[in-house]
Amino acid sequence: MSSPQPRNPFDLTGHTAVVTGGGRGIGAAIAHGLGAQGAQILIAEKDAKRGSDTARALQDAGIRAEFAATDVTDPESIRACLEAARSRLGGFDILVNNAGMSQRTPAEDYEVADLDRMIHLNLRGVFLCMQAAARDWIARRQPGAIVNLGSFASVVADPLSAPYAATKGAVAQLTRTCAVEWARHGIRVNAIGPGYTRTEMTAPALGEPETMKKIVERTPLGRVAEPFEMAGAVAFLASDAASFVTGHLLMVDGGWTAL
Ligand code: NDP
Repeated sequence: MSSPQPRNPFDLTGHTAVVTGGGRGIGAAIAHGLGAQGAQILIAEKDAKRGSDTARALQDAGIRAEFAATDVTDPESIRACLEAARSRLGGFDILVNNAGMSQRTPAEDYEVADLDRMIHLNLRGVFLCMQAAARDWIARRQPGAIVNLGSFASVVADPLSAPYAATKGAVAQLTRTCAVEWARHGIRVNAIGPGYTRTEMTAPALGEPETMKKIVERTPLGRVAEPFEMAGAVAFLASDAASFVTGHLLMVDGGWTAL
């Protein structure tokens, strides 16, 4: 006999999400979106002012939220962040790996130090956070949901961003592989693939009229996204509405990769 459907499977009341890089841009929008569905939020952000300002904005909106100064490239800092989620919010069962960086440079000019920085944050940082959360949940025999920030560049070329695209392709493969490894522990691992979204990260590119024109023309929906448009897909993947979804990369790209 099938079990009954929860009343509102999108409801995140009783859940707690750690959002890395949640102080601004897409991360802050995701934090607001998850909070609006009832989740408690820990903003895990490097920049103390931005992180605490965003936590305060969430609190002003009636969402229980805390800030923990976190550098996702530092395993000790990640450990302290997850400990803060336990001590200040009673634990966590959702991890959103949002912190990331991009750089537009012709591949032939890319410096080794820049390549290392990109891999350190976008790949190593994501994996270390996934691993720390999974270790915690497995030890406690607790289910959890991880949502990673991939990109349209996880699956198609992104000229002038070869190392960025490579790290985002890697995020897609981390998502699939860890989803399979951790399924038996009740841990689901999914990712979203944003298209061009208006944030500080993309401000330089979107500020070039020629580049903006090309992006808009190349996007079937004919525009770039606003950060809040990423939140619904993350909330879905984090919620019971996605209880049988794991290892999936959900494109939120205005049709970019459909073309
Ligand atoms: P932003 O650059 O606007 O924000 C990135 C956030 O990550 C900042 O708050 C930044 O904090 C934080 N961060 C950087 N390094 C670390 C670190 N070591 N530890 C903790 N936090 C850190 O980026 P977006 O909001 O645009 O992008 C968010 C995610 O979405 C990224 O993974 C990006 O690759 C992905 N994405 C974005 C797209 C877009 O068009 N914007 C398209 C596709 C994917 P600080 O200010 O302290 O550096």
